[in-house]
Amino acid sequence: MATVPALVVAGPSGVGKGTLLKMIRARYGEYLEFTISCTTRAPREGEVDGKDYYFITKEEFEKRVQDNQFLEHATFAGNRYGTGLSEIARVQRMGNKICLIEIELNGVQQLQKNPNVLAKYVFLYPPSTEALAERLRLRGTESEETIQRRLETGRQEIEIMDQLTCNHKIVNVELQDAYKSLCEYVESAFDFIKIDS
Ligand code: 5GP
Repeated sequence: MATVPALVVAGPSGVGKGTLLKMIRARYGEYLEFTISCTTRAPREGEVDGKDYYFITKEEFEKRVQDNQFLEHATFAGNRYGTGLSEIARVQRMGNKICLIEIELNGVQQLQKNPNVLAKYVFLYPPSTEALAERLRLRGTESEETIQRRLETGRQEIEIMDQLTCNHKIVNVELQDAYKSLCEYVESAFDFIKIDS
């Protein structure tokens, strides 16, 4: 397997990863390519297959696991998620683009053990777990039961984040400040990326 240059962004559900990622994809689309994960969860309203995720069945997912088709994969809140090797290959065929990978912490641990993955890790923290709960409720995409499950997982994820090595930590208090911090980090970590603002 060829080496995989990547920017990995992780943090608990509701921390604002999706929003921040959209913003940096708009800004650095020339350099960063979002790797579209496979998932067994149902699409949320507005999500598009092949754009937000590849939505596949549990059977198909496990078959791909057996066939070693994932760079990493994990179970999150009862659903399966994984970064397909074919997706990495798609990004690599684009030339010298960096994979922009958004995953949960179990996946981060797998990538950190993989010598072919040359990644920079950014961890996003919520200001508090109350803020996480509020954001998840405001988002309105999940049932209360799922929110509780995601919050419990989120608490565990924050504990794991504290123990893992990462290159840059951001506490997402104000979206614009978090965005600025992320842009500054991206431009310093990958020095060929320069955008005049
Ligand atoms: P959601 O259901 O909110 O889209 O995603 C749930 C969690 O799964 C998020 O923390 C998200 O970052 C993570 N996730 C998304 N795709 C992948 C993947 O390919 N692998 C892993 N390990 N986690 C993923």
